[in-house]
Amino acid sequence: MYDLAIIGGGPAGVAAGVYASRKRLKTVFVTKDWNSQSTVSEGIENWIGTVKISGADFAKNMEAHLRAYAGDIVDIHVGEWCQKISAIDGGFEVATDKGSYKAKTVLITTGSHRRKLEVPGGDTYEHKGITYCASCDGPIFADQDVAVIGGGNAAFESAAQLLAYCKSVTLLNRSEEFKADPVTVKKVLSNPKMRAITSAVPTEVRGGKFANTLVYKNKESGETVELPVTGIFVEIGSIPTTEFARDVVAIDPYGRIVVDPRTQATSTSGVWAAGDCTDGIYHQNNIAAGDAVKALEDIYVYLNAK
Ligand SMILES: Cc1cc2nc3c(=O)[nH]c(=O)nc-3n(C[C@H](O)[C@H](O)[C@H](O)COP(=O)(O)OP(=O)(O)OC[C@H]3O[C@@H](n4cnc5c(N)ncnc54)[C@H](O)[C@@H]3O)c2cc1C
Repeated sequence: MYDLAIIGGGPAGVAAGVYASRKRLKTVFVTKDWNSQSTVSEGIENWIGTVKISGADFAKNMEAHLRAYAGDIVDIHVGEWCQKISAIDGGFEVATDKGSYKAKTVLITTGSHRRKLEVPGGDTYEHKGITYCASCDGPIFADQDVAVIGGGNAAFESAAQLLAYCKSVTLLNRSEEFKADPVTVKKVLSNPKMRAITSAVPTEVRGGKFANTLVYKNKESGETVELPVTGIFVEIGSIPTTEFARDVVAIDPYGRIVVDPRTQATSTSGVWAAGDCTDGIYHQNNIAAGDAVKALEDIYVYLNAK
């Protein structure tokens, strides 16, 4: 039986893995991949100690850091998807799509994933006009009319990237107010190629082989409008990746694992969680890594007390 099972290979999981190795906790480390959410970012400028790094290099560095110190202490399994965690005698069993592992303790760092556009045509036109990553797919839509759905920072940052090469960018926001920082909103909206429509609820995506129309309803007037766009960038938030943990720890109505912010302990003794999969209020790379280190310290104390 391992001392610890870490699930997830983003900044939280990797930070915990490095610390587990230093504390010589026999660990199984399971992750689907090394792609943390900011892997799609063109440049991360707030990872402390690094002035600027591309999301892709950030992911490479994560893997390299853990592998450099894993030795024979951290047993790394990449390409495995955790499906279930069950309590067993003396610990937990982590079942993946490729195997199962027994450990005395578990640290969940599975982050979150993008909320999908759930309207007719949403599935049909995914990767055929609908996309979830402006920095990855934006250049494909050069000189075209595109829409961004959402009103938070991610939506406005996507719009800012798209304005560099698209003919026009129309942002649709469900409510009257934008959630994004006022400074960003002001800067993006000052671009003559940009316009924002509030109280706009997307209802359908239409097209032929590729999307060419985004239909939305104006909540105030009830009017249905057809917006001719070839690219639709969806930025409507994220959902914690916690389905597999539902039977073992308390999860709040938003799908976030409930933790004690002092220790990252969950409602179940022997299970901790850190990063974007938790009900922590703020979600950033540095916070995910720091919270995971905090969890590791507590796991170490817990194991030594046994
Ligand atoms: C577009 C974008 C840009 C961002 N830019 C910044 C930025 O510039 N600076 C900043 O500080 N923050 C940024 N963030 C936020 C930051 O990316 C997150 O706070 C951070 O990635 C959280 O790390 P995490 O380790 O908790 O989870 P994640 O990064 O989500 O990593 C989760 C890991 O777990 C794996 N996984 C998930 N479920 C399973 C499973 N069931 N089985 C096995 N493996 C699983 C995933 O494959 C992934 O490797 C950005 C976020 C986005 C979406």
